[in-house]
Amino acid sequence: MEEITVEIRRCRNCGTIQWPRLDAKTKTLLWPNVCKNQKCKSPYWNKERVRDPAIWDPERKKKQMQG
Ligand SMILES: [Zn+2]
Repeated sequence: MEEITVEIRRCRNCGTIQWPRLDAKTKTLLWPNVCKNQKCKSPYWNKERVRDPAIWDPERKKKQMQG
Protein backbone atom coordinates (compact mmCIF):
# COMPACT_ATOMS: atom_id res chain seq x y z
CA MET A 1 0.00 0.00 0.00
CA GLU A 2 1.19 3.42 -0.93
CA GLU A 3 1.76 5.79 1.92
CA ILE A 4 0.95 9.40 1.40
CA THR A 5 1.88 12.19 3.70
CA VAL A 6 -0.63 14.96 3.73
CA GLU A 7 -0.25 18.39 5.02
CA ILE A 8 -2.94 19.68 7.33
CA ARG A 9 -3.97 23.26 7.49
CA ARG A 10 -5.86 25.38 9.89
CA CYS A 11 -8.79 27.64 9.15
CA ARG A 12 -7.65 31.24 9.16
CA ASN A 13 -10.94 32.22 10.70
CA CYS A 14 -11.56 29.74 13.55
CA GLY A 15 -8.42 27.57 13.66
CA THR A 16 -10.19 24.29 12.93
CA ILE A 17 -7.86 21.73 11.39
CA GLN A 18 -8.66 20.94 7.79
CA TRP A 19 -7.47 17.95 5.83
CA PRO A 20 -7.71 17.25 2.15
CA ARG A 21 -9.34 14.41 0.30
CA LEU A 22 -7.16 12.51 -2.14
CA ASP A 23 -8.61 12.20 -5.59
CA ALA A 24 -7.69 8.67 -6.64
CA LYS A 25 -7.84 9.40 -10.36
CA THR A 26 -5.73 12.52 -10.51
CA LYS A 27 -3.74 11.87 -7.32
CA THR A 28 -4.28 15.42 -6.28
CA LEU A 29 -5.35 16.74 -2.93
CA LEU A 30 -8.75 18.32 -2.85
CA TRP A 31 -9.18 20.89 -0.15
CA PRO A 32 -12.66 21.70 1.10
CA ASN A 33 -14.24 24.83 -0.33
CA VAL A 34 -15.45 25.94 3.06
CA CYS A 35 -14.29 25.38 6.62
CA LYS A 36 -15.39 22.04 8.10
CA ASN A 37 -16.56 23.79 11.24
CA GLN A 38 -20.34 23.95 10.88
CA LYS A 39 -20.43 27.20 12.82
CA CYS A 40 -17.73 28.77 10.67
CA LYS A 41 -17.96 27.47 7.10
CA SER A 42 -15.65 30.25 6.03
CA PRO A 43 -14.91 30.15 2.29
CA TYR A 44 -11.71 32.02 3.08
CA TRP A 45 -10.33 29.44 5.52
CA ASN A 46 -7.50 28.57 3.15
CA LYS A 47 -7.08 31.90 1.43
CA GLU A 48 -6.03 35.38 2.09
CA ARG A 49 -9.09 37.54 2.35
CA VAL A 50 -9.75 39.39 -0.83
CA ARG A 51 -9.65 43.06 -0.14
CA ASP A 52 -10.82 44.26 -3.52
CA PRO A 53 -14.59 43.78 -3.57
CA ALA A 54 -14.67 44.22 -7.36
CA ILE A 55 -13.22 40.74 -7.71
CA TRP A 56 -16.36 39.33 -6.13
CA ASP A 57 -18.73 41.49 -8.09
CA PRO A 58 -21.54 39.14 -9.21
CA GLU A 59 -21.94 40.91 -12.56
CA ARG A 60 -18.32 40.46 -13.36
CA LYS A 61 -18.48 36.82 -12.36
CA LYS A 62 -21.49 36.30 -14.62
CA LYS A 63 -19.65 37.80 -17.58
CA GLN A 64 -16.69 35.53 -16.97
CA MET A 65 -18.94 32.50 -16.83
CA GLN A 66 -20.54 33.39 -20.14
CA GLY A 67 -17.09 33.47 -21.61
ZN1 LIG B 1 -13.32 27.98 10.24
